[in-house]
Amino acid sequence: MPELPDVETERRYLAATALHRRITRVHADQDLLEGTTPAAMGRVLHDRRFETTHRHGKFLFAASDGPWWLVLHFGMTGGLVFFKAGGAVSPPRHIRLLFEFDNDYRLAYDCQRKLGLIALCRDPATFVSDRGLGPDALDSRLDLDAFEEARVGRRLPVKAWLMDQQAIAGIGNVYSDEILFHARIHPACRINALDPETVQRLFQLMKKILEQCVKARAEPDRMPVSFLLPHRTPDGCCPRCGVALARQRISGRMAYFCPQCQAESGD
Ligand SMILES: [Zn+2]
Repeated sequence: MPELPDVETERRYLAATALHRRITRVHADQDLLEGTTPAAMGRVLHDRRFETTHRHGKFLFAASDGPWWLVLHFGMTGGLVFFKAGGAVSPPRHIRLLFEFDNDYRLAYDCQRKLGLIALCRDPATFVSDRGLGPDALDSRLDLDAFEEARVGRRLPVKAWLMDQQAIAGIGNVYSDEILFHARIHPACRINALDPETVQRLFQLMKKILEQCVKARAEPDRMPVSFLLPHRTPDGCCPRCGVALARQRISGRMAYFCPQCQAESGD
């Protein structure tokens, strides 16, 4: 499922391919639209150009040169493909949203399972606050104090807290495991049971790991071998100590962790 590093990679891809091109036609799949219709989307974006991009958590925004921003959430399987009609790159198979530009260029939002979201908004900040999203995990305004503040009064497992988009936006099942692996914290450990030094370590590693994964374009093959992600399979072993990785269902999601490096504190 696309998380912060994946969505940031999509944002950079959109920014590198589809900005400043005149939109000549829009095709949208009603099933994924929220608060708009294919006709309305076509009307407000026709003859417009995307001028800039933004990301908050797992949401990608593209500003048009009109009053509207496009909002995309990639659900479980979504992604963007830029191509030229009749060119070397073939169109993807599950197009839910397609922008046609001048000179036969196209930007497709491809999503095999219909779990993504396509919307329009007037500005990202209002969209983010209307949905009650917490600060973006890589936003510089999310400092240690704000991180500490986000856990006040919370008692859930640290993995579930990291994945709570209302607490911090951008982290899901995969990257919560990666961050906790580096911080050597058991995923079921309660967020309120962590001491201040551990919280500081968790905060610093969250930033560092996410930045490294953005740099690796969210591809496990590009990540250091010391990372959990390339080994995160049912028969995978800890890249640090070599013992078999453990799995445990936490708040409905399957956590992978090293039972030796991330031993439960007994809390
Ligand atoms: Zn280990």
